Amino acid sequence: MAEAEKTTPSNFIRNIVEADLANGKYAARTWSGRPGPAAQQKVGAGDTAKLRTRFPPEPNGYLHFGHAKSICLNFGLARDYDGACHLRFDDTNPEKEEQEYVDAIVDAVHWLGFEWHDNRYFASDYFQWMYDFAEKLVEAGHAYVDSQSADEMRANRGTLTEPGKNSPFRDRTPAENLALFRSMRDGEFADGAHVLRAKIDMASGNVNLRDPAIYRIRHATHHATGDAWCIYPMYTFAHPIEDALENITHSICTLEFADQRPFYDWLLAHLAELGCINTPVPQQIEFARLNLTYVVLSKRKLIQLVEEKHVAGWDDPRLPTLVGARRRGYTPEGFRRFAEMIGVAKSDSLIDMSVLEGCMRDHLGETAPRRVAVLDPLKLVIDNYPAGQEEQCEAPNHPQKPEWGKRAMPFSGELWIEREDFMETPPKGYFRLSPPGVTPTGDPRPGSSVRLRYGYVIKCIGCDKDEAGNVVAVHCEYMPDSKSGTPGADNYKVKGNIHWVSARHAHAAEVRLYDRLFAVPAPGAGPDSTGDFLADINPNSIAVITAQLEPTLRDAAAEDRFQFERHGYFVADRSDSKAGAPVFNRTVTLKDSWTAKKD
Ligand code: ATP
Ligand code: MG
Repeated sequence: MAEAEKTTPSNFIRNIVEADLANGKYAARTWSGRPGPAAQQKVGAGDTAKLRTRFPPEPNGYLHFGHAKSICLNFGLARDYDGACHLRFDDTNPEKEEQEYVDAIVDAVHWLGFEWHDNRYFASDYFQWMYDFAEKLVEAGHAYVDSQSADEMRANRGTLTEPGKNSPFRDRTPAENLALFRSMRDGEFADGAHVLRAKIDMASGNVNLRDPAIYRIRHATHHATGDAWCIYPMYTFAHPIEDALENITHSICTLEFADQRPFYDWLLAHLAELGCINTPVPQQIEFARLNLTYVVLSKRKLIQLVEEKHVAGWDDPRLPTLVGARRRGYTPEGFRRFAEMIGVAKSDSLIDMSVLEGCMRDHLGETAPRRVAVLDPLKLVIDNYPAGQEEQCEAPNHPQKPEWGKRAMPFSGELWIEREDFMETPPKGYFRLSPPGVTPTGDPRPGSSVRLRYGYVIKCIGCDKDEAGNVVAVHCEYMPDSKSGTPGADNYKVKGNIHWVSARHAHAAEVRLYDRLFAVPAPGAGPDSTGDFLADINPNSIAVITAQLEPTLRDAAAEDRFQFERHGYFVADRSDSKAGAPVFNRTVTLKDSWTAKKD
């Protein structure tokens, strides 16, 4: 194991895995050359992994931050315990799935830094196995065809406090059931005419065991199998079989499936008994899903935001999708750190967005080179700088990493500075630029002095205004012996230190200042919400500006990340940047302004 992985904090799932590995629970299961389904022989043939997990997205949407938690957990276990993690597309539902989503999921998992090698599967590849297993259950008397209407079935299902009633069709013989089930498969009935149900117990305290439906008739075209099938397995039937066929050892899912675990176990125990699958069978383990403030992580709401054009698309940098995060400049390492930091637990909790942003900020702080960008440019004229002269200043690429070296920044008599670094009438404690004037008590106040970072000390002597009274330029004088890195620099003690770019050399570029998409912690819910999540959209979640950048930034390649000093972390947009004309997205500000706002 690599150094970083050894420090992965333990959690209850790791404890289970370690105990199972220590006891050799799955060691006896051979991985090849066994009688049994071909699919099961193929999986893991010749490989010695003793731990097998899977990440099983349904290809009906883009992956979001919640999926990242599940990906890091499942692939992280495989990585740390010499196991394998399968990427399995759970495409048993014929209607909603599309290739576009499959491709996006592949990209997102790779982007997060994980690899499934040969273990990429589609649940629809197992339809024949599922069907055959269903026949076996029918023959053994463990399943029957029910011909009640949907309403009757609902009525007879009982409630949490009352038992259900047996269907009048429950006692059909296995031969009758088999004939009917085959007719269902052969397309002889309309949707909803019959369902195949597991025969368990209509009086069970767990409603999921009251003869759950396992196959339904759907005359629908499937994205992979086309019109080969007109009956489709229910998710709760399909998923355990997928796990078993792939020799999964630990099937990790979110808490809402805990009530389904008894059926998962029932089904696999019966299929093992009937010789359909290998033992020991996989075990389901539930963990708490990720809930994050200031975002929505429901596929339905994400689709609505995209379809109703509240955002620019699935990869809008404000969306909590992984394609959006990538475009925003979030890093895979940041997500992996976040997943480790929040851990996995057995009860639901709400994580504050600032925790995720903090992980990104920390990682970017270590890895993003420093650059200078003026986002709200105001002209600064150095009246005593020789006309036409220019020179180079040197700026470190990372203050804590001298080995990253320095770069040259051209300096001249006209610079861009931030508008907020100048105030005509400075309040107390303002240490940036202000012209000579008078204090509130009528005393003369000299013009202020600041250091132009990596350059000279300057003293403000005045400003120009337009007819409306807006400041259009600031005038200064520089101290020729004060240049940073020269002996004279130490002769000046100033409190302010501001950034700048040379106006003649600067590169003007589009910069998008992204902020959180929602203005309240619980969009659509909670005391500070209106109840409609769309109404909680932050009206200031994007501002598009033209910034003045230091010249080296002109050559930034798509997805290059930088810290713009004093502002935050920015990335060259991967879709809209062109050679010599990058467009930048703000990933995250240097400091968290939201946590403070809340208090
Ligand atoms: P839906 O149920 O609407 O299809 P889903 O988010 O569960 O949405 P899946 O594609 O089924 O989508 O999810 C794939 C995997 O990701 C599942 O194992 C699921 O448990 C896990 N997952 C989904 N959302 C979260 C979340 N918020 N936190 C952690 N894991 C999640
Ligand atoms: Mg799901």
